[in-house]
Amino acid sequence: MKFIAITGGVISGLGKGTITSSLSHLLVNSGLRTTAVKIDPYLNYDAGTMNPYQHGEVFVMDDGSEVDLDLGNYERFMNLDLSGMNNITTGKIYKYVIEKERKGEYLGSTVQIIPHVTNEIKGWLRKVAGEWNADITLIEVGGTVGDIESMPFLEALRQMRRDGDTVLFGHVTLVPEIGSSMEQKTKPTQHSVNTLRSIGIQPEIIFARLKGKLSSESRKKISLFTDVPEDGIIGVSDVQNPYFLPDIMKRQGVLDYIFEKLQFRGYRYSDVWKTFRENLLNPRESVRIAIVGKYIELSDAYISHREAFTHVTGKHGIGVEMVWINSDDLKKSTSVLNTVDGILVPGGFGYRGVEGKIEAIRFARENSVPFLGICLGFQTAVIEFARNVLGLRGANSTEFDPETPSPVIDLLPEQKGIDQMGGTMRLGALPVSIKQDTIAEGIYGTREISERHRHRYEVNPNFIEKLESHGMRFSGTDSEGIRMEILELSDRENFIATQYHSEFKSRPLNPSKVHEYLVLKAFEHGRRNK
Ligand code: GLN
Repeated sequence: MKFIAITGGVISGLGKGTITSSLSHLLVNSGLRTTAVKIDPYLNYDAGTMNPYQHGEVFVMDDGSEVDLDLGNYERFMNLDLSGMNNITTGKIYKYVIEKERKGEYLGSTVQIIPHVTNEIKGWLRKVAGEWNADITLIEVGGTVGDIESMPFLEALRQMRRDGDTVLFGHVTLVPEIGSSMEQKTKPTQHSVNTLRSIGIQPEIIFARLKGKLSSESRKKISLFTDVPEDGIIGVSDVQNPYFLPDIMKRQGVLDYIFEKLQFRGYRYSDVWKTFRENLLNPRESVRIAIVGKYIELSDAYISHREAFTHVTGKHGIGVEMVWINSDDLKKSTSVLNTVDGILVPGGFGYRGVEGKIEAIRFARENSVPFLGICLGFQTAVIEFARNVLGLRGANSTEFDPETPSPVIDLLPEQKGIDQMGGTMRLGALPVSIKQDTIAEGIYGTREISERHRHRYEVNPNFIEKLESHGMRFSGTDSEGIRMEILELSDRENFIATQYHSEFKSRPLNPSKVHEYLVLKAFEHGRRNK
């Protein structure tokens, strides 16, 4: 089996995920069966319980796994649907090892990090490669070399090579540029490679992160000190957009180098993103879209929305300027919304920010501003409509007000009383049926779709008739017709919300349909108002 393992050195946050994704993109589009595994050396079982403030967005896969946002990049760059198996955490490995130990499967031996934990890691990686029947499996090791947490993983990778697997090591380092002359410093790279060597790993590719272009002098110097041939030293300069990175790496010959090292013959790269990149570089038009959320200080919390808009730009040449609005600020005044062409209210948990989201939706509805609500944005659109159109004062979700006189959003009866912590969460790709002659049908061009979910609460069936008789139309439901999935307004063209998270399946050449719709409607709206 053939693997490329990407480790990181010097500091965190160098964009190892983007580099791994870019490499996967190059390999997939060369015709190689490729898959990728992200190793997160933390003890959490998965990212499901992590606060977006600390960790950025929780990404959801088809099989319902809640994973690190890097997995979203893998999917977008490779245009493949991955599964929970593609994300290993220390928590997952330890849970597995301890369960095995409890069943007596270690036959009374003392269970240790080496060999028991490392064996499970190796087994997991080989299993993924096998299930995918992969020509090449990329493995990104989170953290930086030298961290205690990542040691068992690096040790497992070192052993794999010894066991007879082909493992090519790539190492991401930083080349700082110092002073007004921007002198490139290679010392941190040398130290970091030394740390890697001290645990028995010699890298064969160096990805040198820097602002500008890696000078030939720096390349020579890094090569001399690290024993990596100059061809294997790839300068990764700052890019305006991560989607430009595969091209930058390709131009430096990274594919030829890897094909040679791993003896892949007869593969040729086809550049499927050419037009996409050109549109990103020179959008002909632009719109301003407000993102009304509560984690706006950390834009990584909404990374899949940002990407979905980027995909729309790449397809239509309409740039999207995202205007980050803290939903709480809208409780005082919604006047900032006068400056935007469209409004997105994304998902979220907990009451903080909800009243501001409701104000944003009211503004969009009353002023005919194009609107898209996702998950909590869908639920707050129902609450807004119940309060301000149906006149149900105090209407709310029981998530925020368990005593509300009008629980328009509620748990379904079978969910009640079950443990709240993740137990009843509806997760992953599920079918959605679209009704005939609706805006949704026009947008999707089909009546059956599958989209990813991450929610617990639903539109309360007892209120549906009333909401619909006042002009809210539920144009998509689950296959049984019990759970509402898409809503629109019967007298409006540019108001739509979905219970599912269409942002998770948005891909560069196949953007989320509702994000695309929002941008196109925002463009029309902006032009009319100019
Ligand atoms: N908190 C809401 C629910 O659990 C919405 C979840 C979300 O927006 N992801 O149903």
